[in-house]
Amino acid sequence: MTAEADEKAQKTDDFCCASCSEKVHVEEEDKTPSCPNGHKEFETRRNGPGNKS
Ligand SMILES: [Zn+2]
Repeated sequence: MTAEADEKAQKTDDFCCASCSEKVHVEEEDKTPSCPNGHKEFETRRNGPGNKS
């Protein structure tokens, strides 16, 4: 799953920048911030069971 900066987050989560892997924390109903390095695309990561590393 991916997310973009300035889109409203559907849930509180940690996003991982698709370009540089920087982690960004997002609160539900808040707009997704840009990555500290200026990127605007994120992959959402989950730590639930079944997540292969
Ligand atoms: Zn980045």
